[in-house]
Amino acid sequence: MKVLIVGSGGREHAIAWKVAQSPRVEKIYCAPGNAGIEQYAECVNIGAMEFEKLAAFAKEKEIDLTVIGMDDPLVGGVVDVFEKEGLRVFGPRANAAILEGSKAFSKDLMKKYHIPTAAYENFDDPQAALAYLETAKFPIVLKADGLALGKGVLICNTLEEAQAGVKTIMLDKQFGASGNRMVIEEFMTGREVSVLSFVDGKTIKTMTSAQDHKRAGDGDTGLNTGGMGTFSPSPFYTKEIDEFCQKYIYQPTVDAMAAEGREFKGIIFFGLMLTADGPKVLEYNARFGDPETQVVLPRMKTDIVDVFEACIDGTLDKVNLEFADNAAVCVVLASDGYPVKYEKGLPIRGLENFADKDGYYVFHAGTKRTEAGIVTNGGRVLGVTATGKDLKEARANAYEAVNWIDFDNKYYRHDIGKAIDEVS
Ligand code: ATP
Repeated sequence: MKVLIVGSGGREHAIAWKVAQSPRVEKIYCAPGNAGIEQYAECVNIGAMEFEKLAAFAKEKEIDLTVIGMDDPLVGGVVDVFEKEGLRVFGPRANAAILEGSKAFSKDLMKKYHIPTAAYENFDDPQAALAYLETAKFPIVLKADGLALGKGVLICNTLEEAQAGVKTIMLDKQFGASGNRMVIEEFMTGREVSVLSFVDGKTIKTMTSAQDHKRAGDGDTGLNTGGMGTFSPSPFYTKEIDEFCQKYIYQPTVDAMAAEGREFKGIIFFGLMLTADGPKVLEYNARFGDPETQVVLPRMKTDIVDVFEACIDGTLDKVNLEFADNAAVCVVLASDGYPVKYEKGLPIRGLENFADKDGYYVFHAGTKRTEAGIVTNGGRVLGVTATGKDLKEARANAYEAVNWIDFDNKYYRHDIGKAIDEVS
């Protein structure tokens, strides 16, 4: 069969790699793709937001299955466009992708269906938000309602910071229309865990857990980023926690969406905080996480194409979703200065070291092929993933492999997976 993958990051590279393992797949296309995805797919120069062009391409090439990796096209309704054309596509329709596309929607959904999350209020009016803050407890969390590239969340320690935050989001519109509404939320403490899941509208099957490292600097210092590294599984995500979440968070979310007439098919990514009062939902995403995907998919044993199709067909209950009993660690190699200002176009050396090395992967995020070879083309450049029999071995392997790659201004965190040491 022929598969089209939409997106261009490390996540889509990991998806393309995994799809290429399927014996059922004879040809993969990726729009727009990147220099790493080219190993598995023919990259086509169509942007992820060019829905009509994507659908026309899928028809022309007789694509059997399209997989959407990114949030923007999902929230914008790419799945609806494909379905209207009679094309098979994996991902939620716009009316379900709103689970990620509007934080105010997802908070109201959780409240209505008693899904554990932080206490909150939604605001359309900046004056009402400012008045509310006068009597609030600090720290407090401000969230732009819509998509904001992971930057629309402000943790404010004082009233003054929060007032400035309301201005940034709702008045200065730093995140554009995403700031027309705002959620103000109770600040929670605890460990963060990511759990991705496949959903077919009624059945949900969770993948193995992972932990992200969002801050740019060692010791969780510096600015928030798209993610500087991940490990899987999380040793803090115990069997008891999983049982709780299956019962009170995962299935209730799927059932709530169905009850609202917003049947969800695709990936639900649960961003959880393990608080002293039990697990609570920090956020939902309606697609694979990046870089979580880069540690989760290398551990997945089941043919992903079978799972994608089962989600579309509503037969996920018949799928035996299996993961290896090992561990994986991903260290993101970025360009120094990320996430603010960084140079592009720097030649990357050493990619060939990963060829034929079982258990070692280099997923491209911001790279470009030029006549002079592959060069950096973004803040996050590559994700270096290694597996191992346990987390410590996987971490040692990943940091060994980090040394195989070299480019000017190469920057990475040295403490990805440090939390592992707390559990001996
Ligand atoms: P992304 O999509 O990149 O994961 P986002 O913009 O959707 O990010 P959230 O995941 O909701 O934002 O929040 C980003 C980070 O802010 C969280 O990973 C968490 O560290 C912190 N955060 C969010 N909500 C709270 C809260 N209520 N209490 C404490 N910290 C929070």
